[in-house]
Amino acid sequence: MNIYGQTIKDLENYFLNNNMKPFKAKQVYEWLYQKRVNDFHSMHNLSKETIQLLNSDYKFDKLKILKKLKDIDVYKYLFELSDKNKIEAVLMNHDYGFSLCISTQVGCNMGCRFCESGRLKKVRNLLPHEMVLQILEIEQDLNIRISHIVLMGIGEPFDNYDNVIKFIDIINDPKSLAIGSRHITISTCGIVPKIKEFMNYDKQVNLAISLHAPNNEIRNKIMNINKAYPIEEVIKAVKEYVDKTHRRITFEYIMLKGINDSVENANQLAQLIRNINCYVNLIPYNETSHIEYKKTNKEGILKFYDALKKAKINVTIRREFGSKVSAACGQLRSNYEEDI
Ligand code: SAH
Repeated sequence: MNIYGQTIKDLENYFLNNNMKPFKAKQVYEWLYQKRVNDFHSMHNLSKETIQLLNSDYKFDKLKILKKLKDIDVYKYLFELSDKNKIEAVLMNHDYGFSLCISTQVGCNMGCRFCESGRLKKVRNLLPHEMVLQILEIEQDLNIRISHIVLMGIGEPFDNYDNVIKFIDIINDPKSLAIGSRHITISTCGIVPKIKEFMNYDKQVNLAISLHAPNNEIRNKIMNINKAYPIEEVIKAVKEYVDKTHRRITFEYIMLKGINDSVENANQLAQLIRNINCYVNLIPYNETSHIEYKKTNKEGILKFYDALKKAKINVTIRREFGSKVSAACGQLRSNYEEDI
């Protein structure tokens, strides 16, 4: 087991099961997350016996930084996992702090047509420690503290639900990274049963839905998942979610030229989501060489934006980060595979 995949409760139980005092869990957490020590021998307030025990049960495997690219206000990392699989994380420097976009799976099975990540089918889920370590490695590499986490890298977080929830429990803990739940955003392509399950999660984590279309006809064309969970089911689940949690939801909407970006599409979208406590985040499409979709130009995005505004929908346009550094999900990995 990797030590970075343990919640404080896991460690407390571990010590209890070994007839030791559970407060040692807090001490270990302090060494790991406050002092950033990465071997048990340096944990000076633990007894030899405790260190020996920990050493026999836990590993410290780290991620290897294979590649690091920098553009204005953005760093992109390609990591190698201990089994040689590769994942990406993107760090963005906002005026409110550093936000890290992390991966949740190796590859992805959701099959969104516009997305580079899905060109590699899912190899496996990431384990909690592999998500935690994306944060720790980058904080160490740049000597910074990250304040916001978005689960919008490679993979579908709701196709790896339990590990993702454990990851959030770990980084949200005041004794570890203490990243506030309101500073964490999960993005899903719309796996309805998991949206329902997530309603009962006790932390105020933000939820974003990759909607990308105002109707089934368009959504079926660009997102395979819509065949399993059509748009009306997604909207119904979202309404339940908002009713139950009283939290505002985000709809992400990629602007694809000639596909989903007309004013008529905007009006239909406005109809679909009216009366929901939500906002729409329009995403300029990040073009990739392997996929034929093109981005809507600025003027087209603004027209769409205006139509939503007129219909009294809260809407923002996402700032573009790092198109020069292959910031589209999965692009860095697939370019790397081609380079070598
Ligand atoms: N699977 C999850 C999270 C990962 S994708 C989801 O679907 O939400 C994160 C976001 O990036 C999604 O909204 C996805 O549709 C979007 N995305 C994928 N490829 C993109 C690209 N080339 N340009 C812009 N956004 C992209």
